[in-house]
Amino acid sequence: MMSRERVEAQLEVGDRTGNPGYAPARLVMERGQGMYLFDTEGRQYLDFLAGIAVNCLGHCHPKVVEAIQGQAARLMQVSNTFFSDVQIRVQEKLTRVSFGDRVYLCNSGAEANEAAIKLARRRQRVVLGQTGRSTIITFKGSFHGRTLAAITATGQPKYHEGFEPLMPGFVYASFNDLGSVEALIGEDTVAVMVEPIQGEGGMVPAAPGFLEGLRALCDAHGALLIFDEVQTGMGRTGRMFAYEGYGVVPDIMTVAKGLGGGVPIGAMVSTEEVFKGFVRGSHASTFGGNPVMCAAAEVVLDELARPGFLERVVEVGGYLKERLEGLESAIPIKEVRGVGLMVGAEVGGQAGRIVERARELGLILNTAGGEVLRFVPPLIVERGDVDRAMELLVAAMGDVAASGA
Ligand SMILES: *Cc1c(COP(=O)(O)O)cnc(C)c1O
Repeated sequence: MMSRERVEAQLEVGDRTGNPGYAPARLVMERGQGMYLFDTEGRQYLDFLAGIAVNCLGHCHPKVVEAIQGQAARLMQVSNTFFSDVQIRVQEKLTRVSFGDRVYLCNSGAEANEAAIKLARRRQRVVLGQTGRSTIITFKGSFHGRTLAAITATGQPKYHEGFEPLMPGFVYASFNDLGSVEALIGEDTVAVMVEPIQGEGGMVPAAPGFLEGLRALCDAHGALLIFDEVQTGMGRTGRMFAYEGYGVVPDIMTVAKGLGGGVPIGAMVSTEEVFKGFVRGSHASTFGGNPVMCAAAEVVLDELARPGFLERVVEVGGYLKERLEGLESAIPIKEVRGVGLMVGAEVGGQAGRIVERARELGLILNTAGGEVLRFVPPLIVERGDVDRAMELLVAAMGDVAASGA
């Protein structure tokens, strides 16, 4: 176990040498197991954040660890000059569980979205010859990642500030407001890009009819519909992908976060027809489809496909929402939103302080959209974990309320 002095010294080095755009907690994580994280000072935390919706099978799931270790000892990287056996299996499995015929593998959510933007533009302009099409409609409050095209797609000014000039060709409609899309869509629209449930923007699900409406508008105007399922995909909502629950099939889908169960891997999935937008040389990634990452993703795909796995996500997710809705806390919860194990509780301006106090008490959460507590636990979470989390949350809210504004 490490002394506080050692930890402070490490944090000082971390702060001095790291990205000043991060604000990490004043502790150092050392180990994870299942629903729990452990820091270098021996404290234990119940993890309802899961590396931001990433560790879907919990920390260091034995099958994920074994697959990574085995693959690392066999073959680590070959580039896309070659296939690896495990990359082929992951591609095939992703097409089998989705609407897609083809998969482009990459390393993050932002990269998957970059690929989607490039594919949509190139397909419309080069394959269909519709060179007048230049705009992608995205939404206010959205989040699509941190590369330049992805921040431009992200409809939140705070992510743009100081990075101008942004990528041309993006316009922003209002989420859950079809009229605002109708006002923007037209002959020049390449695609509409949307999260089925806005995550970073505050855990806001698409309202009934909204995604159907987008599908109809895209079809009427010859535009492509892109779902950013980076956070909602891979079982998070109790379906393999959120689009299934909404009954609306996009033309292009991006996934990442949960796909590798803890390692960096992303994917863009689409149909044979739309993938005609890419020809030899159009797009690539040195690490994309990396065998070690694919070995982890294969375990995730297999585990999520096990009978009853997704049903349990629905069941425990429903229980989490129910407990939050009934919570008697010193700081009132204004609204509980979400689908499956992607849940937000709107608590107002104290959200950040609640997250901090909860961590001190041994529960890990974060905020989304400033005033919302975000619950995206590992998908293996059980009712008992939810009960424990609610106890810690109530205590944290009590402490924050008692300590004043
Ligand atoms: C996290 C997230 C991204 C960005 O993923 P990175 O792996 O951080 O690049 C994109 N879209 C959505 C919806 C996300 O939640």
